[in-house]
Amino acid sequence: MLSRTLVPAFLAIGALSACATATIERPAPVGQAEQRAPVTILISIDGFRADYLQRGVTPNLAVLASGGIEAPMRPSFPTKTFPNHWAIVTGDRPDRNGIIANSMEDDSRPDEKFTMASDDPYWWNDAEPIWVTAEKAGVRTATMFWPGSNVPWGGSQDKDWPRAIHGGTRPSDWAQFNQQISGTQRVNMVLDVLRRPADIRPRFVTLYFDTVDTAGHVKGPDAPETTQAIADVDAHIGDLVAGLKAMGQPANLVILADHGMAARSTDRIIALDTIANPADYRIVESGPYASIVAVPGHERKLEAALLKPAAHMQCWRKAEIPARFHYGTHRRIPPYFCLGETGWEIQASMPKGTVSGGNHGWDDRAPEMQALFIAKGPAFAKGAKTPADGFANVDVYPLLARLIGVSPRASDGDPAALSGLLAR
Ligand code: AMP
Ligand code: ZN
Ligand code: ZN
Repeated sequence: MLSRTLVPAFLAIGALSACATATIERPAPVGQAEQRAPVTILISIDGFRADYLQRGVTPNLAVLASGGIEAPMRPSFPTKTFPNHWAIVTGDRPDRNGIIANSMEDDSRPDEKFTMASDDPYWWNDAEPIWVTAEKAGVRTATMFWPGSNVPWGGSQDKDWPRAIHGGTRPSDWAQFNQQISGTQRVNMVLDVLRRPADIRPRFVTLYFDTVDTAGHVKGPDAPETTQAIADVDAHIGDLVAGLKAMGQPANLVILADHGMAARSTDRIIALDTIANPADYRIVESGPYASIVAVPGHERKLEAALLKPAAHMQCWRKAEIPARFHYGTHRRIPPYFCLGETGWEIQASMPKGTVSGGNHGWDDRAPEMQALFIAKGPAFAKGAKTPADGFANVDVYPLLARLIGVSPRASDGDPAALSGLLAR
């Protein structure tokens, strides 16, 4: 059977819950409140650098952090949005989860390029996301945005009609990403699904905010506009917590970010055409890092120019990228890879205009790339601490599996890293 719905399922929630309320809700007897099972809510605040919490504009996050667990979290490399969101929900780093960049190529699909709008499961099928594991185990899930959550995971493209996908699993409720849907609407949609009768209420929910990342890119991490965006999202978190409380819904909240943000500047640009001859290569991605393909037959000339020491940047053959990045084996990673020093961008040539604002994608150990992590809820042990030597975002996956009550797949995530956070 061909299946690919074009209707954002989450947008039908209001109608569905109204109908369900009229027909199958079994209210608790008068005077007896329903005992609700805790829901796990995974919240991503895109680009929320770990130290943004210290700006004094996040009273709601501060309450959750002080009553729960808070620590900087190490993202996966490269510190980009799609690779990291996929790492968090699959437990596999980009090199294994297949989403090695926000934009990528694959020799098996020579006429296509993956972009943040690609929902063909071909690109995503390397690693199973936790909502698929949960749905298969009979645990209902809902995603109020998350990269990859609109993908019929595990499905395959029809060979004669590429727009059709056979099979695949999505969250029971999901929505097509749309930046125009406000933070208030996103929070209300999450609260709405949790108002449903128990038999159609999700036990795992995701929620995603993009405005802190956008402000960080446009104005830079230190700009007042970015601080305002941080304060606005904090208010949305406050509304979510208040809404949960009002309906008596216990929740285990895991609030995190995919990466941090560093300032960029006209003074910190590396122009690739001053290092190698553009006739010898093609750039796949540029910015905090550049991924490069040699023009066939020009490999030696390119290597002679690229692999020698350069100021503020280092380049490698993909197989020689240092092991600490855990990056370089996936077929989608181009043959040559250059990484800028944090804050330095690699561009095809020197840009004509001013370069300002912020970016991310640099070394996952750079302080500016460290991400928010807060956990709070009945499942967490009081006074628990994250490991003193830090933890990686892939370690969140086995924690989520335990919170939801499903068996995690073997992954790059260390189940022991965050197991001490859970109350026994
Ligand atoms: P980046 O280029 O790494 O900063 O990506 C951040 C941007 O990704 C956000 O500003 C969103 O516009 C976009 N984005 C986030 N989630 C999704 C999604 N599920 N589908 C498409 N685009 C998304
Ligand atoms: Zn991001
Ligand atoms: Zn970004």
